[in-house]
Amino acid sequence: MLPDIENLLKLQEADKEIRRLQEEIAELPKRVAAIEQTLAGTKVQLDKAQAAAKADEAARRKYETAITDLRGKISKYRDQSLEVKTNDQYKALLHEIQFAEQEIAATEDKILEIMVNADAREKEVKSAQAELKAETAEIEKEKEQARQRTAEDEKLLGEWKAKRDQLRASIDSDLLRHYERVLKLRGTGISEVADHKCMACQVMLRPQTYNEVRTGQHTVVCDSCQRILYFNPANEVVEPKIVVKRPRRHHPKIDASQAWYFRENYDDAGEVYVCLTNSQGQASRRVYEIHTGRMIGDILIREGDYRHAFPEDITGAIRLNGDWSEEELDAWGTEAPMVVLDALQADLEAARYEMSTRTAKTQAHAPVPSEQAAG
Ligand SMILES: [Zn+2]
Repeated sequence: MLPDIENLLKLQEADKEIRRLQEEIAELPKRVAAIEQTLAGTKVQLDKAQAAAKADEAARRKYETAITDLRGKISKYRDQSLEVKTNDQYKALLHEIQFAEQEIAATEDKILEIMVNADAREKEVKSAQAELKAETAEIEKEKEQARQRTAEDEKLLGEWKAKRDQLRASIDSDLLRHYERVLKLRGTGISEVADHKCMACQVMLRPQTYNEVRTGQHTVVCDSCQRILYFNPANEVVEPKIVVKRPRRHHPKIDASQAWYFRENYDDAGEVYVCLTNSQGQASRRVYEIHTGRMIGDILIREGDYRHAFPEDITGAIRLNGDWSEEELDAWGTEAPMVVLDALQADLEAARYEMSTRTAKTQAHAPVPSEQAAG
């Protein structure tokens, strides 16, 4: 990795940390302000409760005064009643006294109501006072914590800023300018490349660009988002390639005097090996069942070479390696030995594998008949 890239990554980390610290420092007074607002709410509640208690007290005094006045009136009416001359006058005074007494009873009820309420009022005031006290203690604690946290953050911020300045000084100035321009615009100025993509904008890179980033000989920017690209080998996705090593198959000679074929559907016998041999202007054919090696039918002899004598056995069959002498074939009698069957089986597998890889390679084109299949 280029030293400039390494420093840019460190710079990015420093920028991120500086931003986080600045945000945290800005956030702390907001938290204190939120608690103070709750505190103000509790204060309002307390004020209300105290005002209500005061109003009740004033009302009670007013009622008591009213009662005193009414009692004064009653005693005055009683004095007057001793001096009245007529029955009507007497009745009128008595009526006044009754009226004042009723009023005293009603006012006494009101005082009683206030006294009953006074207990509830007192409880309200006391709980608001306790709440205020607790909240005040809490806010003091919070404020102290915020103060400490801010002091720590400020110290770290100073350290990170010094680190950032040092890093900035060590980076090529043009590259730094580019980094900061993209950072301002997009929030980040550098992006990792993985899986042939710019991880920030997810755009696929051209193979040449990808290789330039990967080899890390000079700095490369993303065509799409303009971020400076870097490659981290530790994050490289290595796809495990399972390669089955097979020895290259030896191909049978087209003009060999003996040829072995594998046929899938031979009459009722199913899978068979067919052995065709040219000898002195004649062709002979032997057919063996592939698992038991048992010979099916008799040796068939026709005029000419086997390609012309037994075309039906060659078409659609798989050509295999195998070369045993006429004497050996005769010596097997009606049963091919196990070692021969194993050799043919191994070659059949190799031939099939070869065909499957060839098919995979030519899949895009028209299927090409294999040499083995065509014979
Ligand atoms: Zn990009």
